Amino acid sequence: MTGWYVAILLLVGLVGLHLWWLLRYRALALGQAAVATKAPGMTDVFANMPEGVLLTSPDGLIEFANPAFCRLFGLADDPTGRTVMEAIRIHQANELVGRLRGESSVVQEEFTLPGLDQRFLQVNGVALREKQGRHRGAILVFHDLTRLKRLENMRQEFVANVSHELRTPLSIIKGYVETLLDAEPDAATTAHRFLKKIENHSDRLAYLIEDILTLSTLESGGTGLDLREVNLRQLADGVLDGLREMADKKKVQLENNIPEALTLRADSQRLFQALNNLVENGIKYGGECVRISASQADGELDLCVADDGPGIPAEACDRIFERFFRVDKARSREMGGTGLGLSIVKHITQLHGGTARVESTLGQGATFHLTFPTAEVEAA
Ligand code: ADP
Repeated sequence: MTGWYVAILLLVGLVGLHLWWLLRYRALALGQAAVATKAPGMTDVFANMPEGVLLTSPDGLIEFANPAFCRLFGLADDPTGRTVMEAIRIHQANELVGRLRGESSVVQEEFTLPGLDQRFLQVNGVALREKQGRHRGAILVFHDLTRLKRLENMRQEFVANVSHELRTPLSIIKGYVETLLDAEPDAATTAHRFLKKIENHSDRLAYLIEDILTLSTLESGGTGLDLREVNLRQLADGVLDGLREMADKKKVQLENNIPEALTLRADSQRLFQALNNLVENGIKYGGECVRISASQADGELDLCVADDGPGIPAEACDRIFERFFRVDKARSREMGGTGLGLSIVKHITQLHGGTARVESTLGQGATFHLTFPTAEVEAA
């Protein structure tokens, strides 16, 4: 009987102990959760960030804005509770907050703040979602790019100024050399040979200056693209006509295999320049024939320039579009190359939203592909 009595007492004790642990565990867990929400220190982190941070509610109202955000937009009081439009009066930012509702990844945009001291901002925004996928608002981080943009503009202006300054004396030197060469009938004399060398080198400098200027304009996006429907076969015919004399001298055959009616929405001058650089390279470094072709499939248009020359080593194929990269420096110089031609091709293609690549097997020629999206080409 006493045994039973002790067993019941033990059981009651154990159940009590279990309940006590359960309650204590819950209290601990709740306590930790409270600490986690109360003191994550996130507002302190945001407060000290140099970037502007904005947190919005599901209905687009500002839930939190850090001091950097208020400074960036010159806000005197806390914008909490207002819409983004009410607080900063910038349509693009307001639209972005609306657009983020339907986005699942980070969205990046750049915009300019109007005013006397024009400011350039980059904003990264992402929607916040609960576990069930319900929209919980958005977080936006604003970076002030004004200083970087100004430096970039200064660099571009500098390149343009230096190039213009170099151009004038160079054309004067060239003018004198040509006059002296005309007056020097004997090609065998030292003076004649020296003059010829000066002429070659001033030509090279002139090409270099032109290419640096072109690249700088393309990189700055200075001239927008003049997009029109371009007939590719006609464009290629124009390129081949301009290079026929050079090809004849080197006994290189030129072929245009582009279908008659194929068109691309593009800037014809820029595309002409890209195609011209590729065909010229095909003649300079290639073998006996350079072919232009094009095909369209699956929302893409592939414009190809192929030659049957010595080709390009595999390790150079990835680097060939870099500025000043040459497989054979001496040969490029001897051909009057600047090392910038393919960078220009790449930039022009990218401005059209496309990509440039090369396929080559040593000894079996090289094929350059410019691939453009055809569904909707927007100037990048
Ligand atoms: P470059 O002014 O030297 O021709 P590019 O940027 O046009 O400069 O070309 C870079 C290098 O790529 C060239 O120096 C050459 O070594 C190589 N290259 C370009 N096109 C061809 C080609 N069709 N066949 C073989 N090599 C080529």
